[in-house]
Amino acid sequence: MKKLAGILFLVAIFFTGTTKAQFEKTAFINGKIYTVNEKQPMAEAVVIERNKILFVGSNADANKIINKETKVIDLKGRFMMPGFIDAHTHFISGGFYLTGLDLNPAKSRAEFIQILKDYIKGKEDRWITEGNWDHEKWDVKELPTKEWIDPFTKNTPVYIDRYDGHMALANSYALKLAGITKDTPSPEGGLIVKDPKTGEPTGILKDNAMDLVRNIIPPYTNEQYNEALAAALNEAKRFGVTSIGDMSYTTDESFQEQLNTFQRFEKEGKLTVRVSTRMPINTFKKLIKAGIQYNFGDNFIQIGSLKAYADGSLGSSTAWFFDHYVQDPSTYGLPNDIFQNGNFEKWALDADMNKLQICVHAIGDRAVSATLDVVEKIEKQNPGWDRRFHIEHSQHLQPNDFARFAKLGVIASMQPTHLLEDGNWAEKRIGRERLKYMHAYNSFLKAGAIVAFGTDFPVVTLNPMIGLYMAVTRRTSDGKNPNGIEPQEKISVEQAIKCYTLNSAYAEYQENKKGSIEKGKLADMIVLSDDLLTIDPVKLKDVKVEMTILDGKIIYEAR
Ligand SMILES: [Zn+2]
Repeated sequence: MKKLAGILFLVAIFFTGTTKAQFEKTAFINGKIYTVNEKQPMAEAVVIERNKILFVGSNADANKIINKETKVIDLKGRFMMPGFIDAHTHFISGGFYLTGLDLNPAKSRAEFIQILKDYIKGKEDRWITEGNWDHEKWDVKELPTKEWIDPFTKNTPVYIDRYDGHMALANSYALKLAGITKDTPSPEGGLIVKDPKTGEPTGILKDNAMDLVRNIIPPYTNEQYNEALAAALNEAKRFGVTSIGDMSYTTDESFQEQLNTFQRFEKEGKLTVRVSTRMPINTFKKLIKAGIQYNFGDNFIQIGSLKAYADGSLGSSTAWFFDHYVQDPSTYGLPNDIFQNGNFEKWALDADMNKLQICVHAIGDRAVSATLDVVEKIEKQNPGWDRRFHIEHSQHLQPNDFARFAKLGVIASMQPTHLLEDGNWAEKRIGRERLKYMHAYNSFLKAGAIVAFGTDFPVVTLNPMIGLYMAVTRRTSDGKNPNGIEPQEKISVEQAIKCYTLNSAYAEYQENKKGSIEKGKLADMIVLSDDLLTIDPVKLKDVKVEMTILDGKIIYEAR
């Protein structure tokens, strides 16, 4: 009995010790803290306890709760704000993009070979894929052949595609694994390029012939997924992105692999971004069966949201419009088949009845309108719940549709960074008149709609500063719009920050947990090199993140 009491005593000491350490506070003082909380927009100090915000206010009041166990960080007048919440990323794909092979910078045969050689080092036992090469950029514009790369890839299968995705180079080992010889006929719609003298395949496969190799490439391993996620997390940290909406999943399998990867990282305490996932719409029955509803999960991983496509993109002239394209009057764009065959409407209603959130990709004005029509029908049949339907991109609008967003509570999930390039060539596609309601942030906000900002990483950089810069200045990359393209759609930096923090949190049902610096919320904050509220808006794009705090921990500090 005495012995037991002794043990209990020791256990008690042990627990008090750890509890004390766990509850240690950190105070950030002398800051210019923009909270995004309308009731208390500015503060000098924030005190956090474990992963939550305990206090927001003046230095003097903070001093009253600071004791000798409190870690004090003097911000020395620097600007602090909530971490960015990027509402639209393809996060792990972005990681694969960051860690992947990029032969595009090569300007000669020698450079092409060198970049590939360097990349393969340490990866000899894997398939080498992607590549992104462009022989039109080389001094001698010849297509590569397997002989260029065979000498250093004897035991490494290589299948690397041209940037346009219409041809690829395979080495001898990959051709052998695929069973392609001089006697293999080219498949329909494709070409196995062969040497005119020897009849041997050169390694170049065009269009449908590419599948002969592509089909035997094994899926990514867990290790590769881990590397990709680690790379994307590094990018998020240094850009001050503490939460993401993740749109990655095109198939069931990729969803499973990616969600598993996020979970592996979370279990090991390595997940340094909060993730709100979207599953492909056609999987909704599985979610319903599993009893999953909107906003299911913990503070780090959330499921219960679906993604569908209403149309394509402006760049490929497949965004769906009411009026035809200017450069090709025969086309109005391309509605997705689930919008043509009525499946979307059926699935969306069923999913909505079962309290799943729905996000629809819609770029053209007709795709947006058609999606709103469906939401209207759903609202009639299943009224009275907080569905927070998203229209991803919401890029081009009919003027009378802005009010419908507000009325139906549909969230416009937008990516201002796209405007940087789109603004250069959109007029050629859709003419002057329709530019008026392109990326129309101000019209949305004036109509009372909720706008959430994101990037579409890795289509564009994950850096939120470019998004803020574009929302506030609307300067296109060609330099032709120093005052902004359709300047009436510019918004203030305060509005842009809110779209990128609190509104994005709202878009994933998390506005009571994050998106602003408020007592009781999760401690996700960033410290910046400049004061976003007073800096010349043109310089917003150059602002750097100096510190990122996630879940109460400093996860990044610039050196
Ligand atoms: Zn996207």
